[in-house]
Amino acid sequence: MVEGKCNKCGADVPSNSKFCLSCGTKIEKETRQEREPIHDVFRFLFSKNLIIAALLLGLLLIWVGSLVLTFSTDMTGYRAAQTLNSLGFFITGVFLIGGGIVNDSMDRYVRVGMVIIGVYMITSVLALTHLLSTIGSFYN
Ligand SMILES: [Zn+2]
Repeated sequence: MVEGKCNKCGADVPSNSKFCLSCGTKIEKETRQEREPIHDVFRFLFSKNLIIAALLLGLLLIWVGSLVLTFSTDMTGYRAAQTLNSLGFFITGVFLIGGGIVNDSMDRYVRVGMVIIGVYMITSVLALTHLLSTIGSFYN
């Protein structure tokens, strides 16, 4: 398989050879690896603007859910609050984790922090769901 041409003499150079077969010049490999298409999709999905939008949406859902929970007096209200809060936590968590993994241009510690907070939020969905269903069954 031919990967490129020798910089010195222009001869075709096989992908696995370290020296040009024609003139013996050392072949400098391109250090930048080609991105897989799926990676580009994730890059788009977890681009900074979309992460910010998703975080705002998630926090909005959590906020509205908290209001609904505060003022609800029956199971329908609790279920609505549960759905809103769970959705908010889930969206926020997923985008924090995805953003932390994909955005390799960002500071490493920030990315690790995003993933940790994301995992925390997604596990919180389970805890919150359990808590709200407990409250719901208490009042029912
Ligand atoms: Zn050459």
